[in-house]
Amino acid sequence: MKLSIVIPIYNEEENIPPLYGRVTEALAGTGIDYELILVDDGSSDGSFPLLRQIAERDSRVKVIRFRRNFGQTAAMAAGFDAARGEVVVPMDGDLQNDPADIPMLLSKINEGYDVVSGWRKDRQDTFINRRLPSIIANGLISRMTGVHLHDYGCTLKAYRREVLDGVNLYGEMHRFVPALASQVGARVTELPVRHHPRLHGTSKYGISRTMRVVLDLMTVKFLLAYSTKPIQLFGKWGIYTLFAGFLSGGATLYFKFFEHINMNRNPLLILTAFLLFMGVQFIVLGLLGELNARTYYEAQGKPIYVIRERINVGDRGPGTGD
Ligand code: UDP
Ligand code: MG
Repeated sequence: MKLSIVIPIYNEEENIPPLYGRVTEALAGTGIDYELILVDDGSSDGSFPLLRQIAERDSRVKVIRFRRNFGQTAAMAAGFDAARGEVVVPMDGDLQNDPADIPMLLSKINEGYDVVSGWRKDRQDTFINRRLPSIIANGLISRMTGVHLHDYGCTLKAYRREVLDGVNLYGEMHRFVPALASQVGARVTELPVRHHPRLHGTSKYGISRTMRVVLDLMTVKFLLAYSTKPIQLFGKWGIYTLFAGFLSGGATLYFKFFEHINMNRNPLLILTAFLLFMGVQFIVLGLLGELNARTYYEAQGKPIYVIRERINVGDRGPGTGD
């Protein structure tokens, strides 16, 4: 069985040598035939020269370099497009995921599953701005997609190749692949995996990402039920506006019931109604725009990434921009 490991890299120069070392170490002696696809998502540090050096020494290492930063999902999509293995395993480039878990994921695939999703049972990230939003997002995704996993956001997963064919990724949607795959009959399971603090450098994400994830979730929900980015513009303001509406609504109720102030025709009441309506309008507008954008992308065959150069990659995948 041939394995393709796909790793998005955005300014990870210090992590690259240990990453390569641990992947090689984890697979040495397992007899697994693999390729390591490293996708440089427009790094501005010394990541690319390092990747080039590694690929020149080791032909199992393939490098795809983007023209600019297109985002983690796009980088993963490029890796998936180039992958030639029967099984594809994406993971992070900062060694938060542990390459030593790969053989365990593969044995689950060999049991007959099409998707094995990593579960960071002991997640090594800050609580307030990373784990708490994830708990909420995971709960929402689980309810809305009907595919019940504990940890959609874990990059470390294993896919049978076929599952990825025909899955179009954009936005933050790499985390919804198990849900999309299960819709077309894939057998999905999850497996606890190790998780470490970031080895070097800092995370590229903050709390705003969770919001993007939740907005993408609405689109996925639409796609799952019926069939890139306006929703993030309108949806973000929609959520803020709605939230402001709840706050002023709360204040209105407080004044009415606790301070016994007559709120009839009070500006606060009018403001509340306005904010709530506008919030919903913005979100719906964003959703319509998003669906429109998707139609546009699919009609144009417009790639979500553009490649500058490839090392050790023969085939021209989609998204070459030429
Ligand atoms: N990444 C990327 N493009 C980006 C942001 C991140 O390719 O625009 C890569 C990054 O180099 C890492 C992975 O995606 O390999 C996960 O990023 P990070 O560790 O910053 O996310 P976190 O673990 O904090 O969720
Ligand atoms: Mg990380």
